[in-house]
Amino acid sequence: MFDPKEHPHRRYNPLNREWVLVSPHRTKRPWHGQMEASKADDRLAYDPGCYLCPGNSRAGGVANPEYTSTFVFQNDFAALLQNRVAAPPGGDDLFRIEPVSGICRVICFSPRHDLTVAEMSVGEIRPVVDCWADQSAELNAEPGIAYVQIFENRGEMMGCSNPHPHCQIWASSVVPNEVVKEDAAQREYFETHGRALLSDYLHRELASGERIVDVNDQFAALVPYWATWPFEVMIVSRRAVFGIEDLDDAGRDGLAAILKSVTTRYDNLFQISFPYSFGFHQRPARAPGEGWRLHGHFYPPLLRSATVRKFLVGYEMLAMPQRDITAESAAARLRELPEVHYRHTGSRI
Ligand SMILES: [Zn+2]
Ligand SMILES: [Zn+2]
Repeated sequence: MFDPKEHPHRRYNPLNREWVLVSPHRTKRPWHGQMEASKADDRLAYDPGCYLCPGNSRAGGVANPEYTSTFVFQNDFAALLQNRVAAPPGGDDLFRIEPVSGICRVICFSPRHDLTVAEMSVGEIRPVVDCWADQSAELNAEPGIAYVQIFENRGEMMGCSNPHPHCQIWASSVVPNEVVKEDAAQREYFETHGRALLSDYLHRELASGERIVDVNDQFAALVPYWATWPFEVMIVSRRAVFGIEDLDDAGRDGLAAILKSVTTRYDNLFQISFPYSFGFHQRPARAPGEGWRLHGHFYPPLLRSATVRKFLVGYEMLAMPQRDITAESAAARLRELPEVHYRHTGSRI
């Protein structure tokens, strides 16, 4: 008898229409999640050498203001430039090229160099949500912008060398690959069923509960059925919200609370500042949005401890992604973790 807890199988991701291989038999051994010794708290609230701290100079000698909440600036090393160059003529099936323009910004979450989302309070995260919403609204309204991507790389393992809490926004004249796939899947599901794909999916997940990590009135956090990364988490709006700027007051509070919950559980898993890439997916600019549901993806690389990481190499580069622990067991572990950050003793909630 086939048992998905025991036997190799593949699961389908209806958002990007790709399969992931699951090999649960490879994790027969009981969990001995080793704890790394927690590093001493040697982070500084202000670092004179940090280009994101208030008052410090960035590339080119521009000084940051003495900001007290969030702070947004144009990326000094932008991957996209605002001036569109005329498209080159021609192009054919084998050699395709298109100009891309856009706007790249950096958002500092806090003047405090030593905080992370996990260690900020819900009340401190809320202005970050407002900033994301304002930026998204502003950039979506810019002529020539097709998509606004908000993302955070957290930790050196993810290639982020500066611990100052910040994220990036890349607003581009094209809809990027991942969003093209999810847009097509959600649009076609909506045309077929008359309901949003992620709305139907979330109803099923909430009814089952086995992959739910946390839930509030506005948002749910879950390990998707088709997760690739060991502790991958998706947060999904429970309301029919297409983009982050469409969130009302309660929605923004709910988003801040679910982000706090997920990032705190992540840090508590191995008692370290947990690395991840996180980003929102939302309706492309000026698209009708029907069928879309605002959501975010956490892609963390860690597997069994603070030092054992997963790489997408070999079979995964050449064939398909693969995971060992099931989404259900990863969700159970995250769900059972305390909601209070391991470095806090109740003084900061
Ligand atoms: Zn800093
Ligand atoms: Zn997505």
